[in-house]
Amino acid sequence: MAQETIFSKIIRQEIPADIVFQDDKVTAFRDISPQAPTHVLIIPNKLIPTVNDIQDEDEVVLGHMMVVAAKIAKQEGIDESGYRLIMNCNKDAGQEVFHLHMHLLGGKHLGRLIG
Ligand code: AMP
Repeated sequence: MAQETIFSKIIRQEIPADIVFQDDKVTAFRDISPQAPTHVLIIPNKLIPTVNDIQDEDEVVLGHMMVVAAKIAKQEGIDESGYRLIMNCNKDAGQEVFHLHMHLLGGKHLGRLIG
């Protein structure tokens, strides 16, 4: 059984977060420690710990995360200037919160993908 993280509390709105989008499948909120002028995390409402835990049945929610990412980028006014979507998986990628999340980063020139 996967262990809940702080992100489950954000989904249920039990702790404060700057939620920019929420529906029955996903929640998106501003990262508490932003690495760019726009830094939003898009997460499935279902607890999926890592990319490795994605099941066939999750295809719809994963696709929806991309649709929502594009909408938020437009809302933030960075769709034309550009942005980056990142999902970290496990230790070598530096995953800290084990509830799948997509980082949406933009609003400045982001430089190289791998520093
Ligand atoms: P990762 O390293 O990919 O697991 O990213 C986890 C991200 O979650 C980091 O960028 C954190 O700043 C962010 N984070 C952790 N706790 C919170 C929180 N309570 N509200 C918003 N963002 C958070």
